Amino acid sequence: MLFSSLGLSEEIVRAVTERGYDNPTPIQQQAIPVVLQGGDLMAGAQTGTGKTAGFVLPILHRLSDKSVKGPSEGRPPIRALILTPTRELAAQVEESVREYGKYLKLSSMVMFGGVNINPQITRLRSRVDILVATPGRLLDHVQQGSLDLSKVQILVLDEADRMLDMGFIRDIKKVLALLPKQRQNLLFSATFSDEIKELAEGILKNPKLVEVARRNATADTIAQKVLPVDRERKRELLAHLIKEKQWFQVLVFTRTKHGANRLSDQLNKDGISAMAIHGNKSQSARTRALKEFKSGELQVLVATDIAARGIDISELPHVVNFELPNVPEDYVHRIGRTGRAGANGEAVSLVCIDEQKLLKDIERLIKRELPKEIVPGFAPDPRIKAEPIRMREPREGDGNRGPRGGQPGRSGQSGRPGQPGQGKPRQPGGATGGRPGGSTANRSSRPGSGSGQRKPGNASAGKPATHRSGGRNH
Ligand code: AMP
Repeated sequence: MLFSSLGLSEEIVRAVTERGYDNPTPIQQQAIPVVLQGGDLMAGAQTGTGKTAGFVLPILHRLSDKSVKGPSEGRPPIRALILTPTRELAAQVEESVREYGKYLKLSSMVMFGGVNINPQITRLRSRVDILVATPGRLLDHVQQGSLDLSKVQILVLDEADRMLDMGFIRDIKKVLALLPKQRQNLLFSATFSDEIKELAEGILKNPKLVEVARRNATADTIAQKVLPVDRERKRELLAHLIKEKQWFQVLVFTRTKHGANRLSDQLNKDGISAMAIHGNKSQSARTRALKEFKSGELQVLVATDIAARGIDISELPHVVNFELPNVPEDYVHRIGRTGRAGANGEAVSLVCIDEQKLLKDIERLIKRELPKEIVPGFAPDPRIKAEPIRMREPREGDGNRGPRGGQPGRSGQSGRPGQPGQGKPRQPGGATGGRPGGSTANRSSRPGSGSGQRKPGNASAGKPATHRSGGRNH
């Protein structure tokens, strides 16, 4: 199938062809016609499937289509709003808008927190057709009166599952209240939890459902492996693998920001160039790390789950789970960074005895047993006993004990007292309010806001049992 056969304008097809795409991906084949027709859409697609172009291309077409009634006089208002969970994803989506729309007379803007608001206010005084934003900063603008969303015709919730995970549900509802009732709604999500279905029911009207990956399945192009290893030897094994196999562009996941910092420091000491990205890093540090990683200057990027969300690096060859995620769905998201759009990738998980339960939960979710392979010289010592996994960032004064350290985090006991969304297991045996991110530091560095004004833990809105703490790390 060709892009031209989907009904997209010549200008858009030209831009896509110049980008080097020959054929639309499955999600694009399914989503583009639905969006072009003006209908609502619920799309199940994870990063790497080409979902961004799946909504950006038809939106560009619709907004530039002269036969569709647009604003008659004056400066055109914001007509498409794309909400994303993270700053990085917002920046990438807006970059796509600009690239695919380069032959059109449409103007786009990206808006996220963590940076000075004033240039954004100035930018809003000129034409913006398509706004890509994270919810927190968007609401900051609404509060300041610098943003008018009353003429939005198309709303996209990108990576809606992550937005819920990150505690944005209230913010999303506030934004919805500012939009015209009559509009087109597109919801993209990698997983279809009950919460997502509930959100979709409240927003979408007679949506077409398109789904490309199997529900909660991991992409088939990704080779997945578990390497059993002792907890204290993980760093040594990682350095060994990177050096021995000459890995480059390795995205490594840790559970906590503290763990990410520690690991990147240790890798640098081992002579491997590494940087950590997470929510406590300034936006400029995050952008710089990502740029160097993409260009190949930086060998290893160590990230927490939320920071890594939406990172788009084509053909990322290696993803390493230095620690398994507390929530099994995060495994699917993590390894979705590799094997993108048809390229092959490899995801390895370094699993110690403490993580056996987390591994089982993941295998149950993806409905397959992951192959285990012992790296010579790194066979786990059978005398080592399992210890509880620490699920939160260490507090000041905890010392440098690393990501575990005698805190019983499994049953919500490590959560901050009284913090909404905490204290109950999210799922049987799963992670709890004691997830990383309960620390005070997180509260002032919510992704997409930068203001720290709203409560990150406000998301559960009466459903704390099924919700991850909004204050999780990123
Ligand atoms: P996404 O799922 O939107 O994050 O896209 C994943 C990657 O696939 C990005 O690097 C895109 O540039 C790339 N991509 C998107 N559409 C196509 C296509 N039709 N053919 C080849 N690559 C694509």
